[in-house]
Amino acid sequence: RAKASGRGTYRQFAPGMDAHLRAKQEMKIELRRALERGELELFYQPLINLGTKQITTCEALVRWRHPDKGLISPVEFISLAEETGLIIPLGEWTLRQACREAAKWPPHISVAVNLSPLQFRNRKLSALVADSLREAGLDPSRLQLEITESVLLDESDNNLHILQEIRQVGAKIAMDDFGTGYSSLSYLRTFPFDKIKVDREFISDLPTGKESLAIVRAVAGIGRSLGITTTVEGVETQTQLDAVNAEGFDEAQGYLFARPLSAEQVFEVIKARRSSDSAHPTFP
Ligand code: C2E
Ligand code: MG
Ligand code: MG
Ligand code: MG
Repeated sequence: RAKASGRGTYRQFAPGMDAHLRAKQEMKIELRRALERGELELFYQPLINLGTKQITTCEALVRWRHPDKGLISPVEFISLAEETGLIIPLGEWTLRQACREAAKWPPHISVAVNLSPLQFRNRKLSALVADSLREAGLDPSRLQLEITESVLLDESDNNLHILQEIRQVGAKIAMDDFGTGYSSLSYLRTFPFDKIKVDREFISDLPTGKESLAIVRAVAGIGRSLGITTTVEGVETQTQLDAVNAEGFDEAQGYLFARPLSAEQVFEVIKARRSSDSAHPTFP
């Protein structure tokens, strides 16, 4: 297309695209090194039970502490890791590390770990889950694995089989980013999820967004009927929380309660809330 609009245009675009590709190539090499050098870090964001206001779960969210560029968001490197296959060692490290960290928390708090669909190409995924739990001494029921519906898009029953194996190990399965895919509802029939996390896209325009409110209300109803824990992500304001509470959701996650915190910070928050230290206000 650039070529069709004349040589001049083509020449103008080429150097820019080169630079972009070069930067990406460089980042791939650096990401491989980052894994070896231990530059990856897990942050943890609390999920709050809306009835008790207690932390039920902390979601592990990976960050890359780059020596020059500082803290890099997973949005910038997860797809790169998927393209290069690095998601396999990255995912393994994340799972093991999250289980080790969670083993230090009080037993009523679970840990959630995101799984890439590509990790399901590894037939031994359930063995990795079992091994991570055993190594950390973590009760399997305290591990929640978050998947997106793309895991079930796979034509074969392979991924479904792996999910069932993971369930056998005793871990819980959550459907993440609910509502953003093609046919989220049909997947609720394919696999008995333990938890639904409604994507923050539907929370951001509450309570005025009529369509979002209708969808959120329907998901809360489906969760109740099926006995699935319902969670919303991305709660940033009190009015959004009020709307979510009115629909009867079980849990919420978002900046209104807490941002993703370092392992040390989240441990402090968990401890402080246990000792009901009045210097640490309770969640809204
Ligand atoms: P996700 O699993 O849907 O995680 C929620 C994302 O929303 C996190 O972004 C979190 O920081 C952000 N968030 C939470 N509350 C709020 C809020 O109130 N407002 C706004 N605007 N954002 C909020 P983060 O940490 O940048 O992670 C982005 C995505 O990267 C995650 O989305 C997940 O899909 C992926 N990811 C993160 N860690 C891993 C990992 O270890 N493995 C894999 N495969 N993917 C990961
Ligand atoms: Mg998630
Ligand atoms: Mg999510
Ligand atoms: Mg999301």
